[in-house]
Amino acid sequence: MREYSFIIAAGGQGTRLGGRKQFMTLAGRELWRWSADNAAVTEGVREIILVIPQGETLTPEWPHDVPLRVVNGGSERALSVLNGLNAATCDYVMVHDAARPFATGELFRRLMDAVSEDAGVVPVLPVSDALKRIEGGTGKVSCVDRDGLYITQTPQVFPRMRLIEAVRDFPSAKDEAEAWCNSGHVLRHVDGERMNFKVTVGDDMTIARALAERRITRTGLGWDVHRLVPGRRLILGGVRIESPLGLLGHSDADVLTHALMDAVLGGAGLPDIGTLFPASDDRYHDADSLGLMREVMRLVNAEGWTVEFADAVITAQVPRLNKHREEIVQSLSQFFQVNLKFKSAEGLDDSGRGMCMTCRAVATLGRVIE
Ligand code: MG
Repeated sequence: MREYSFIIAAGGQGTRLGGRKQFMTLAGRELWRWSADNAAVTEGVREIILVIPQGETLTPEWPHDVPLRVVNGGSERALSVLNGLNAATCDYVMVHDAARPFATGELFRRLMDAVSEDAGVVPVLPVSDALKRIEGGTGKVSCVDRDGLYITQTPQVFPRMRLIEAVRDFPSAKDEAEAWCNSGHVLRHVDGERMNFKVTVGDDMTIARALAERRITRTGLGWDVHRLVPGRRLILGGVRIESPLGLLGHSDADVLTHALMDAVLGGAGLPDIGTLFPASDDRYHDADSLGLMREVMRLVNAEGWTVEFADAVITAQVPRLNKHREEIVQSLSQFFQVNLKFKSAEGLDDSGRGMCMTCRAVATLGRVIE
């Protein structure tokens, strides 16, 4: 599988917006972070390289496993991108404008599928407005045929070493694709995204804010049951609880984490854990359910969802669980906030007879409307 360095060009002064737009915030996140967060959860991306203005320092908080490196730019865009390319280590690079916060993981994947050793790829959109050329001196207006004309977006994806040569040879090119074409290389295209617009002038920021702050909310439901038997460990929310009875299952049988994973996946409209991590697959024998939850979070985050809240009820006659509530909630807080309740089953049904433990969970997920 090919590996990619994701370079975010945030070295400009953003004078057209009257400030450094790449560090302006959009729904609480700086502009550059929107694509960085997205790239960090995209399969194949091994590192994020953020190119910041010359002479500045920045040590951002970074919650992802994929490393983020910050490098300084140069006096021109080409020099900034070159610094990023030289700091990169992967064979392929995706060069992206910090000022395009809404590029999706789907676009990244389309580009990755189209790039090859000898061809770069750019996302394009057909020009939909009629075009005019206005002469600087006279103000004379003439019409331009828009047939066959496209606008270019980012990320632009290339084999790294060849791009370094191209950018060095053509430092005044408007973008990496232009330097690439000037060097005589093949350039391919994939469909761009209307939402992947560049925040350039003040009105763009108003539109971006309106989009970033429009969210949809969904609720997912999860349910699970495991037999309660002697000689097994009892693990709830990743916490080992001393008990003569434990839960039976193919994995660690963490009934709470299982119900929560299904609630989270359900809210995101994704398949359940039985489908994603089948018991027939030996990799999940004795699996640590928190590890599976990490994978679930990666999947839902990749779709743009964040988990805002979860509520769960464990039904168990034995053992008494109340005193463990805080530790369990704390353990799960690495993923999201959980409200946890315990119910005895009043001696009724199988959980009431101490034969099993059940858990019901709901999760609320939010996503920016795309
Ligand atoms: Mg289960």
